Amino acid sequence: IRPLAQADPEVEQAITRELIRQQSTLEMIASENFAPTAVMEAQGSVLTNKYAEGYPGKRYYGGCEHVDVIEQLAIDRVKALFGAEFANVQPHSGAQANAAAMFALLNPGDTILGLDLAHGGHLTHGMRINFSGKLYNVVPYHVRESDLRVDMAEVEALALEHRPKLIVAGWSAYSRQLDFAEFRRIADLVGAYLMVDMAHFAGLVAAGLHPNPVPYADVVTTTTHKTLGGPRGGVILAKEQYAKKINSAVFPGQQGGPLEHVVAAKAVAFKFAAEPEFKERQERVLKGAKLLAERLLQEDVAAAGITVVNGGTDVHLVLVDLRNSELDGQQAEDTLHHIGITVNRNAVPFDPRPPMVSSGLRIGTPALAARGFGAEEFAEVADIIATALVAAANTGTLGEETAVELRGRVSALAERFPLYPQLSQRGNA
Ligand code: PLP
Repeated sequence: IRPLAQADPEVEQAITRELIRQQSTLEMIASENFAPTAVMEAQGSVLTNKYAEGYPGKRYYGGCEHVDVIEQLAIDRVKALFGAEFANVQPHSGAQANAAAMFALLNPGDTILGLDLAHGGHLTHGMRINFSGKLYNVVPYHVRESDLRVDMAEVEALALEHRPKLIVAGWSAYSRQLDFAEFRRIADLVGAYLMVDMAHFAGLVAAGLHPNPVPYADVVTTTTHKTLGGPRGGVILAKEQYAKKINSAVFPGQQGGPLEHVVAAKAVAFKFAAEPEFKERQERVLKGAKLLAERLLQEDVAAAGITVVNGGTDVHLVLVDLRNSELDGQQAEDTLHHIGITVNRNAVPFDPRPPMVSSGLRIGTPALAARGFGAEEFAEVADIIATALVAAANTGTLGEETAVELRGRVSALAERFPLYPQLSQRGNA
């Protein structure tokens, strides 16, 4: 019963410092967000104590009457949110959702088509040392060099040549929408399953601001913590005909006991995602990304050899292209970190630099939109980022005077939009 601060001050202190970091900097990692406190409350609840192997109404443990209610709420809400026939809300993460979906539909050695990691795909779409690359015969597809958009002609040619059992459509670093109807047509042409991994853009889909892959795909996987803004976790949606196979692939195929505290937090997040405020927030997410792309396409930025992959964005992120700049991805990430903006470097397609350095930055707007940022604030952040990158590219470093000025502008924005103020009292932060 001792509070954490007394029971384990080392952990408590690190949590408090992380809270202060989140409050005082600008979080622009495209895959991150700020979960509402109600979501965190559910996640930090007594449900963490409960074993519930199985599914609502069919458990292998006693005492599941309340977790059954919770898991069923999560299932019903996420099905309604995306118009899905079936949902499994138990995957511990996005990677585990993908592993279970593939486990349900494929046998080891089967061929899958997935977007190349170096062109914006995810590790679980066939990276060599990921389970997907080890278990399955992976044929990667790519973006076109001319416009850096997914090359559907190549997808079709590779499908006809290799006859995959599964085609994966989805991405971790891509700033345009995929053509789900065209993926479906190609999958049907060769009798392949179509799996869409909407981990990144699920929040936009829920808000009706991005095409919904559910009608087109056999299976749709997602994380719940990126644009959806819920707890860290995964979900599988599918046509009813795959229900049994997917449920048994998750448990007992991949996992033991579900994390019912996380399932409860997912249920809360799905409730929020169906509300009008969520749509309004996702509109700000998109507006912020557009404003950022526009600023990074201006003359002063172009003169420093910096541009935007794809010439803009339709989603919640912008990919900065540093291939023609003196500044590399690592230096650009460090430059923004130095002034209090957190982003991640990311390889861009046809990147001449090694992945650990890279020639790109991935910058996302979901977390700042959750904090309340609108057009005015996003325009200010965009200008701070552009100013920092141009200065670093032109002079090799951000002079101390510029750094101080930009850090001041970052702090002013952070202070205008307090994050989790009610948590500050806890650690005297
Ligand atoms: N799928 C995509 C497209 C992703 O971008 C990610 C995470 O970055 C995942 C799956 C994996 O999610 P997790 O980190 O929860 O395993």
